[in-house]
Amino acid sequence: MSSENMLKAENLTFEYIRRDEEGNVEGITTAIDNTSLEVKPGEFISILGHNGSGKSTLAKHFNALLSPTEGTVWVDGMDTMDADNVWDIRQEAGMVFQNPDNQIIGQIVEEDVGFGPENMGIPTAEIWERVEESLKTVGMYEFRKHSPNHLSGGQKQRVSIAGVIAMHPKCIILDEPTAMLDPNGRKDVIRAARALNQVEGITIILITHYMEEVIYSDRVFVMDKGHIEMQGTPRAIFSQVDRLKELRLGVPQVTLLAYELKKRGLNIPDGILSKDELVNAIKGLRY
Ligand code: ADP
Ligand code: MG
Repeated sequence: MSSENMLKAENLTFEYIRRDEEGNVEGITTAIDNTSLEVKPGEFISILGHNGSGKSTLAKHFNALLSPTEGTVWVDGMDTMDADNVWDIRQEAGMVFQNPDNQIIGQIVEEDVGFGPENMGIPTAEIWERVEESLKTVGMYEFRKHSPNHLSGGQKQRVSIAGVIAMHPKCIILDEPTAMLDPNGRKDVIRAARALNQVEGITIILITHYMEEVIYSDRVFVMDKGHIEMQGTPRAIFSQVDRLKELRLGVPQVTLLAYELKKRGLNIPDGILSKDELVNAIKGLRY
């Protein structure tokens, strides 16, 4: 099955309902509030937003871990409310979570990566091919015989990603995959996600609070109070420093520096995303 949109949400609302022991409603949190969005196949989307803005709740709708209170979510044209679609949706849209320790179940790296395709009923010979290919893609093939317990956080996270890739998904949703990692681990995970997008054409949804990680995306969604408040290219988003501050978000350090220099009168364009861009902008200035 293939569809014009990899992911689509239409007027999505999701409420967490708290009940007491008798089942009476104690409170309702509207985590997603009448939000619509579309993601095309092959896009790299980043989602920003401060804590509690609804990012994880939205992400869980993309592989049918949650279903809408109101509105509709489609994954590759499949309505997530239809129970008959859930199995296919979980194979097409894989998820990677924050804590790698909760995601790895195998005693040996290659065994862990093989679980997904095994559950899908893939023949053994092909499972091994997929395990090898997936581990190579994330740069963990040389660790295939290791115990996951002895890996660094970043390495574990790349094994989790390999486990998802081995199911040959069309889309991978990464919910703050780098939050618990050191800077090197973070770089490796982001590099792996970019390679999957660029080389394999896999649609990527990256939720992060590290501004530096989103500059490679095609589009950025900024969430606040269960809405998508802003969406656009990283450059368009990071040109709006004051708006982002209102939403309690920062911008990459180099973007902020460029913004401060501009405010002090230097003729520098908005939305500088890299050191090179800033250096070139400054070199081009006439005194
Ligand atoms: P984010 O990932 O952006 O931090 P979440 O989607 O986790 O945001 O949370 C959105 C809102 O839903 C918050 O107000 C949060 O407290 C609430 N929430 C999240 N998970 C639950 C849950 N399991 N039960 C009740 N409320 C929840
Ligand atoms: Mg979250």
